[in-house]
Amino acid sequence: MSVLTPNYFVPKSLPEALKIAHRMKVTPLAGGTDLIARLNAGESVLGGAILSLRHLCELGKIEQREGEIEIGARTTITEILESSLLKSKVKVLCETAQCFAGEQIRNAATLGGNLCNASPAADMAIPLLLLDAQIELARWGEGVERRQIPLSQFFLGPRKVAKDEDEIVTRVIFSVPKDQQVIYFEKFGTRESMDISVVSVGFSANLNGDQLSDVRVALGAVAPTPIRQRSLEGLLENCKIKNLDEKLPFVREILGREVRPISDVRASAWYRGELLYKLLKRVFADVVRKRD
Ligand SMILES: Cc1cc2nc3c(=O)[nH]c(=O)nc-3n(C[C@H](O)[C@H](O)[C@H](O)COP(=O)(O)OP(=O)(O)OC[C@H]3O[C@@H](n4cnc5c(N)ncnc54)[C@H](O)[C@@H]3O)c2cc1C
Repeated sequence: MSVLTPNYFVPKSLPEALKIAHRMKVTPLAGGTDLIARLNAGESVLGGAILSLRHLCELGKIEQREGEIEIGARTTITEILESSLLKSKVKVLCETAQCFAGEQIRNAATLGGNLCNASPAADMAIPLLLLDAQIELARWGEGVERRQIPLSQFFLGPRKVAKDEDEIVTRVIFSVPKDQQVIYFEKFGTRESMDISVVSVGFSANLNGDQLSDVRVALGAVAPTPIRQRSLEGLLENCKIKNLDEKLPFVREILGREVRPISDVRASAWYRGELLYKLLKRVFADVVRKRD
């Protein structure tokens, strides 16, 4: 381990990192694209010493173990975009990475940082919510102690996650999608790249002949955290693909009743609501095309 200043630690292994986090209050630093930007903006974001995760190679792997895929927290968005395993088994993660910021940010930004920053607009959260991913956290106890929680329970609010101070996020784990599962990620930003989502929509379902099952809907930038939208899932479960169009008025009604985006400099609440509806409509049209 090297210590660059008394407050900056660069451990070479996970146990070393966890021992430091056990001993003192730390702020993990991954790609720094959120943390350093906030520091530069004058926010007091450092709780204790900086703990660099840069050299923790064990957090940088993308692997398949039997029916599950594991992505290390320190994996960059570029590594996700270029992973041949993900391209062949979970293409939606590569598609999401493709519309994440621009190349320079993608080269530095990590999956763990995206999830721990817990922005309502965190792009990688949307496909991972659809995949029912688990997030693994580790701390130092008798040795390295690990626990897993569903990603859907990890987000508590903007920049608030279900992680204790001495814990580091190590991996994200999910089952390899079934062949009949279609998974979509749609994002609207005001520019083609280098832009945070104004809204984002994820949709997943198993296509069994003409019927949808195990429908999942995830929404970004319309609530304090990325969310699953269970009422829409209930509406669309077991729906015939040929009847998807007939569901659209009910989709609009549920969105109007249950999804309450805010107005800010990026878009009004009304505009966000309209965008959600249009993006879902676009996804449905593609599901119909796939069946035809
Ligand atoms: C110009 C620009 C464009 C952007 N575009 C997008 C975009 O299109 N989509 C999008 O979703 N985001 C975007 N972002 C936001 C940002 O790039 C992402 O959230 C990124 O994934 C953060 O990862 P990082 O490794 O840089 O995190 P860092 O800045 O290093 O850390 C972020 C937070 O997570 C904590 N943390 C990091 N890793 C861990 C870990 N393993 N365990 C525990 N805590 C950890 C840190 O302590 C910190 O609180 C953009 C940012 C910029 C500056």
